Amino acid sequence: MNFKKLAFIAFSSFVLFSCSKEDETITTTTEISTPVSAFDEFNPDAVTISFDGDQITIETNGQPNHTSPYWEETHPLHIDPVVALAQTPGRIGNRSLTVTVSAAPEIASSSTATGLGPIGISVTGVPIFNDTEGDNRPIEEQIVETFDYAGAHNGPSGYHYHIESYDVPENNTVLSHNDEKLVGIMADGFLIYGRKCNSTGNYPTDLDVSGAHTSSTQHSDGKEFYHYHIINEFYLGSIIALFAVDLQGTPNSIL
Ligand SMILES: [Zn+2]
Ligand SMILES: [Zn+2]
Repeated sequence: MNFKKLAFIAFSSFVLFSCSKEDETITTTTEISTPVSAFDEFNPDAVTISFDGDQITIETNGQPNHTSPYWEETHPLHIDPVVALAQTPGRIGNRSLTVTVSAAPEIASSSTATGLGPIGISVTGVPIFNDTEGDNRPIEEQIVETFDYAGAHNGPSGYHYHIESYDVPENNTVLSHNDEKLVGIMADGFLIYGRKCNSTGNYPTDLDVSGAHTSSTQHSDGKEFYHYHIINEFYLGSIIALFAVDLQGTPNSIL
């Protein structure tokens, strides 16, 4: 806690004062880095966060803190399918994914399309995937049927999320559904929140093409910083993709 506080003070925000003798005006610019308290939301059983100067490293074993039919049947968190009509092969396993991001990520001069594999790490520790499947096919009905209530299924590289979680009684943990909860961190270092923003308590109306804007959140102590939201639009039927847009920062590898 102390370390985190120190780290927060060290790089979270600094104020520039420019003062000239002539007009004695003081210009205050608040530059906000990623608020460190957001990392308290990550599942500590799966995710390890380390702060090193102006960099943050996020490591996960990919194992969520919620129930799923994709757990081995002997696992305490295994449940029968709630929404999945079919299941992809394989079970939730132990894996290792690591990404190092800037503690003060910046918007790049051009956006970057996402590719196959992990494009972010969620608060549960499960990687976030985009809206395509292995052969670059957009998610279609047949694939949707394999998602559990968490919006995830298993693939050759393990269990991963594609869509927003379902509103079912079993979903009572940390997953965002039509709210302002933190969803995770994207490969470019920007945080992603649910469909609503804490700054207004409602759906943001000032989002850019990637579903991002600059505002405060529940983690930033009133300071504004750039972050993504799940875009409040149906992708297919009533499903909502977690991230079907380009990254606005510079993506780091999640390996
Ligand atoms: Zn998939
Ligand atoms: Zn927001």
